[in-house]
This record gives sequence, C-alpha cells and structure tokens, in this order.
Amino acid sequence: MKTSLNRSVLSLAIIVSFGATADNEYESIETYVGKPATEHTIAANNALAETLPWHDTSAFERSERGLIAAFGDHRVGELRNRMAHMDVENIRDDRPDTVNPSIWRQGQMNYASGGLYQVTDGVYQIRGADLSNMTIYRTDNGYLIHDPLLHDEVAEAAWNFAKEHLPAVNGEHKITGMIYSHTHADHFGGSRGILNTGDVVEDAPIIAPGDFIKEMADENIMLGNAMSRRGQYQYGQSLENDPTGIVDNALGMGFGKGAVTLVTPTTKIVEREETRVIDGLEVLFINMPGAEAPVEIVNYVPAYRSLNTAELTYDGQHNIYTFRGAKVRDSLAWSKYLTELKMRFVDSGLVDNIHSAHSAPVWNNPETEINEIGHYMEMQRDNYSCYITTPYALLTMA
Ligand SMILES: [Zn+2]
Repeated sequence: MKTSLNRSVLSLAIIVSFGATADNEYESIETYVGKPATEHTIAANNALAETLPWHDTSAFERSERGLIAAFGDHRVGELRNRMAHMDVENIRDDRPDTVNPSIWRQGQMNYASGGLYQVTDGVYQIRGADLSNMTIYRTDNGYLIHDPLLHDEVAEAAWNFAKEHLPAVNGEHKITGMIYSHTHADHFGGSRGILNTGDVVEDAPIIAPGDFIKEMADENIMLGNAMSRRGQYQYGQSLENDPTGIVDNALGMGFGKGAVTLVTPTTKIVEREETRVIDGLEVLFINMPGAEAPVEIVNYVPAYRSLNTAELTYDGQHNIYTFRGAKVRDSLAWSKYLTELKMRFVDSGLVDNIHSAHSAPVWNNPETEINEIGHYMEMQRDNYSCYITTPYALLTMA
C-alpha cells in the first residue's frame, strides 16, 4: 500500500502495565503464587460440576472440525504453547480443585482450537493464536482478512502461517482487503502486523462500520487508563497461566503478544446495509450498532453461503455489564438482531454455516433435517432476551 505507516498507524495504549504493590500476605504481585483450594471451594466446585452437561461434546467437535494445519512449533502458537497445562487426558477427571468447573470446561473448549481451519471452501480461520479469530476469505486474486487479531506480532505470524497452507492465487498470496467488524481492539489491534507482511495490495480497502474512529476513541482511549486498570482487576491479568491463576479468558484462551495498533480504515459502511465487491467477491454488510459494541457490522458472503456474525454470537454468555467499565450493552436490541439474522439467513436456507470472531463455526448437517444453526441462534438469542430479568442477573453475567 502507498499509505505511509507513520500517518496511518495509531499505537494505542489500551493495555497498560500493572505495577501495583499489594499488602497483607502478598509481598508483591511479582512473587505472588496461587494457593490450593480450601475445603469450601472444593465442595462448591464439586457441587457445580454435578450439574454440568459434560456429555455434550458438540462444541469440541466444532472446534476441531476442518483443521488444515495445527500450529505446532510455529511462533503463531505461542499463546497455545503457554497454555500447555490445559493439555489433559480427560477434562472431567483432570479438573483441578482450584478452578470453577464451568470455567475449566470453557478453557478446555478454547484450548481445542489451535491452527488454521477451513469453514467451507473459500472461508478459513486462524483460531487459538490470540483472543479472537482471524477469518480469511478467498477473492479473485488473493485473500480478504476479517478482524486481524489483537496484536501486530501475532497477526503477522498468523498470516505467514496461513500462507504456508492456503493455495497461492496467481502464484502469490496477496491481501486484497481488510475488515474490522467493530471497535474492540481484539478486532483491529493486529492490523499493522498485516501491513508489515508486505502482501497488502495497493488500494486494498480497509472497511469498518460508520463512526468507527469516534466510537473506538470513546471506549478505548477516553476511558483507556481507568478501564485498563479495572480490567486488570476483572481479569487478573498479572496472574500466571496455571490452575491457580488464569486458565481462560472466556472469549478465547487469553492474550497473544505484541503491540495493539490501528491501520486507519479507508472506507466505512454507513448505510444500514451495503453490498461491496472486494476483488470480485460480493459481500453484504449490515450495521448492527448498539448491541455488543457501539458500532458493529456483520457480513454475508453469498458465494460461500456463509454468514459472519462478528461478535453477536459466541460459545458463551457475553458481557452485558462489564466491571471494567465498558458501555452497557443493550440486550434487547441484541436479541432482535439475532432474530433478524436467523429468520433472514438461516431459516430461509441462505447459509450452510455461520462463523464469528470468537469460538468455532456452526454448520448444518445436510444429511439431517435438523436446523442446527437455527437452534444455536435461538440459544444465543435467548441469552439476551429471556434470562436478563433483574439487575442481579445482569451482575452475575458480567
Ligand atoms: Zn472480541
């Protein structure tokens, strides 16, 4: 691209170091080590474990489906290799006493993904390299990248890993465009890493929802320091990755390494819906603001019969009210968006799969009449429409 790096890249101080000292029995955060579970914790965890549907392994099967190449020793697998303590024989029998069983299961599900996967012919995902997924669509002369992870180093390594395993187009692996689904840093923070690969073609569009910069600044910069500090408490980011520290980050295994950057968008989706043709690939974008993020676009790719729900779906209950201080999400609007997507794309038979920026895709099985994607969308919708009845319920899901 001709765009100069200095002008177009904005480094964001979203994640700040945490140097606080602690009192009482913890001499300092640097020397703190986790403690064994107390009898009370063990009893509470055991009681909860009895209520969980351990027999339902469908999320694990989806996480492993379509594997093209596992990370192995490639540097893109740094996060997964850091989480090697999650590599157990049996998630139920090997559950540590110190870990809430539901969190442990979520961690195991996220750990199940670690490589380059095919969603369908023409749609691929890097999963397990960073907090989010990077989706890659094949276009006429190369590949279109959707959500380039959280960190530039990881994004660069992820694309280089993908290049080793995806077919060349006209003898090359060119990047013909980039999409940021919304304003949260795990969906654009690795953008400079993609630029650094040198594979982005001149005039490749960088697409984002309307008001992207304003809303991104609103959430990430203006509240940055305060929200980062609260985030440290919410997520315990200074703890070690082990069964007495951090075992998972819900949306993904955890954070990769590198700088959080932003290559500024070159074009925005401002209408409620816009169809763009990106290097020959038709993509329908739909703005669905004010739910999971202040501005957010989902996209449908007719050629691949594939719907990308951005972060409106994921294998879990999403934040509604976050302790770190992000804007409170409108769960009613969210549930309506999911109803619209289900009726318009899933129930009408326009899609064979849905995929998103976290967790594994969901497919319909052509050999059965069961609308598996539809059922998944209903469960997702009901997360936001039925269960949120009281302020207490909101708090328990933060
Ligand atoms: Zn995200």
